[in-house]
Amino acid sequence: MVVNVVINGYGTIGKRIADAILLQDDMKLIGISKTKPDFSALLAYHSGIHIYAPKENIERFENAGISVAGSIEDMLSNADIVIDATPQGVGAKYKPLYEKHGLKAIFQGGEKADLVDISFNALCNYEKALGKRFVRVVSCNTTALCRIIWTLKTNFGVKKVRATIVRRGADPHEIKKGPIEALVPNPVTLPSHHGPDVKTIIPDVDIVTTAVVAPVSRMHMHIVNVELEKTVTADDVIDALDKAPRILLFSEKSGFNSTAAFIEWARDIGRKRYDIYEVPVFKESITVVNGNELWLMYGVHQEAIVVPENIDAIRAIFELERDGFNSINKTDNTLRILRRWP
Ligand code: NAD
Repeated sequence: MVVNVVINGYGTIGKRIADAILLQDDMKLIGISKTKPDFSALLAYHSGIHIYAPKENIERFENAGISVAGSIEDMLSNADIVIDATPQGVGAKYKPLYEKHGLKAIFQGGEKADLVDISFNALCNYEKALGKRFVRVVSCNTTALCRIIWTLKTNFGVKKVRATIVRRGADPHEIKKGPIEALVPNPVTLPSHHGPDVKTIIPDVDIVTTAVVAPVSRMHMHIVNVELEKTVTADDVIDALDKAPRILLFSEKSGFNSTAAFIEWARDIGRKRYDIYEVPVFKESITVVNGNELWLMYGVHQEAIVVPENIDAIRAIFELERDGFNSINKTDNTLRILRRWP
């Protein structure tokens, strides 16, 4: 079976998912929606992607030299599933239209958990999403926390997690967001929303999170403290993270001492848009005190980490693969996601 996919919202997340779908042999990109005929629309159009637009804007696209394949409603009538990658809260407004067209849909982390049948992370709960109609791929920060916590939980058991999230202020292309010169508690009143969001995937975990927004644009960073069930060494943890999919360990000895180094590495190995789908962990930050109290730090490339999760979510919804690891392997091969580096 080949699944016909359309993408509503072709911004930071939508354009990356579109490119990832083009690499799969069990799904076909029917088209994407754009609201404005900007350079992203031109690039997509000239690479052969079918563009759909709101009816009232179609003339603007034609005037800009972009032939539009139809309206957003036309796009929805051509699909088996829509990936909603519109801004936070807009997806919820679209849901009745998706329902009207009898579509299945994947929403992103900006939408609320109660909008969907299940919140999704491929490593943690792939099988629970089999055959579901409305699925939410959780946010970038929640995705990273889930991969790390799940790996620790399945290897050593987890008593509790306390995490601080240093959030990027804006994506690189966003010129109207900040802060420019401040660190902003997010929010001042603890805890942050990330802990409850992790519980939509791993319900039984004891987790409390705090967050601060920093004037950077390329990555988030997490500082995580985990009390484990078992007594472990740092090497035990390194071994477990090393074996887990979509987590990579980077050594300070090779110059990995900041998020900038991760980005530079991704550029050097030729990743499109320097996308880092994996969770890059600062290897030497992995420290165990009192036998079972683990500390670690890692980066999160917010623009990319959820992309493979969306591909796996499509496979789960259509039961193209019943085993999550088969889907993860397939997605990782097509996106050249690494198990280990070098
Ligand atoms: P974005 O603003 O970069 O892209 C959204 C796109 O949707 C834009 O191209 C915009 O023009 C288009 N759009 C706006 N209104 C629309 C409408 N009514 N109909 C159709 N298209 C419309 O946003 P993003 O960063 O890609 O975020 C999309 C979703 O992904 C959000 O839920 C967000 O929370 C989530 N997410 C974002 C990030 C991130 O760091 N950027 C990471 C993980 C998840």
